[in-house]
Amino acid sequence: MKKAKSILVTGGAGFLGSHLCERLLQDGHGVLCVDDFSTGSEKNIAHLQASPRFRWLRHDVTQPLAAEVDEIYNLACPASPVHYQADPVRTLRTSVMGALNLLELARQCRAVILQASTSEVYGDPSVHPQPESYWGNVNPIGVRACYDEGKRCAETLFFDYRRQHGVRTKVVRLFNTYGPRMRPDDGRVVSNFIVQALRGADLTVYGSGDQTRSFCYVDDMVEALVRMMATPDEVAGPVNLGNPGEFTILELAQKVLAHTGAAARITYHPLPGDDPWQRQPDIMLAHQLLGGWEPRMDLDAGLRQTIAYFRGAGAS
Ligand code: NAD
Ligand code: UDP
Repeated sequence: MKKAKSILVTGGAGFLGSHLCERLLQDGHGVLCVDDFSTGSEKNIAHLQASPRFRWLRHDVTQPLAAEVDEIYNLACPASPVHYQADPVRTLRTSVMGALNLLELARQCRAVILQASTSEVYGDPSVHPQPESYWGNVNPIGVRACYDEGKRCAETLFFDYRRQHGVRTKVVRLFNTYGPRMRPDDGRVVSNFIVQALRGADLTVYGSGDQTRSFCYVDDMVEALVRMMATPDEVAGPVNLGNPGEFTILELAQKVLAHTGAAARITYHPLPGDDPWQRQPDIMLAHQLLGGWEPRMDLDAGLRQTIAYFRGAGAS
């Protein structure tokens, strides 16, 4: 049996973080969930509170934190463009000050620390699919920059803390991930389309709908995060994590209509600023480093699970 660890998950009351907390508890660890509940919710972690190994703390990661832990997963940051653009200065502060504070904590308690970075570090990519060696094409002054550049700066901090202070750091770049516990008002495309379809509202496609994304189901992502944390100290990343299955946004809309059986229409709306045209992860490195990891849930099966969740959550 593996040794039980004490693990801090920042952003643990969010969509992805709550699934990660759940998995770590299932694996027998003690989990401290730290969240300011800005986009996360107490509902997401309510079912975990029966476990004596689960604790949570309302805390803003832009402020220093004291704790004694073995591992840190740093997920605290709004991830939906609607949310991260609502207060862009705060988003930057969260990424940069949050990374600094948590790296200092990792340094003090000699913990391993993993940063949830993003495919957004590639910006609107001119290399397709995106390998980790690609340095990206980010507009540093655009409306998405608060998120993209904040995450890029956090990556820099992770690598400098490793080189300068010997902190055991790991950086993973997550591509679009979806599943149960996304907020109905999250604003990202999968939850938007499902909620719209279940309510019989028009599906809002931005732009022509020919832009692409590659969608990863949450359980596959959590498995990859746990495997990355378990890699030897010399594995620093960055490592892409995502499902290489690439779809246009129109294809996604059609799948959601088919799986919900909704008679909704598709309507077209202006494309938001700097919206990336295409995105697909090259996951060869993850496959090599993470014991042959690859996503198991295809988009149709994952959509069915997510639609069932939203039906149960009363989105219709
Ligand atoms: P989410 O918005 O559901 O979760 C983010 C969590 O962080 C929320 O619980 C929120 O309350 C918390 N948070 C935000 N600012 C905070 C602060 N200053 N202090 C403490 N807590 C704070 O989003 P998610 O999809 O679960 O994303 C989780 C992480 O994964 C984020 O760092 C995101 O950038 C990264 N990521 C997610 C995706 C994806 O597709 N889901 C893709 C790339 C990267
Ligand atoms: N999008 C859309 N309709 C929506 C929400 C998003 O067409 O209701 C588009 C958006 O313009 C982008 C893609 O779907 O091209 C993915 O958007 P999301 O916000 O989910 O993630 P990101 O752009 O950060 O990859």
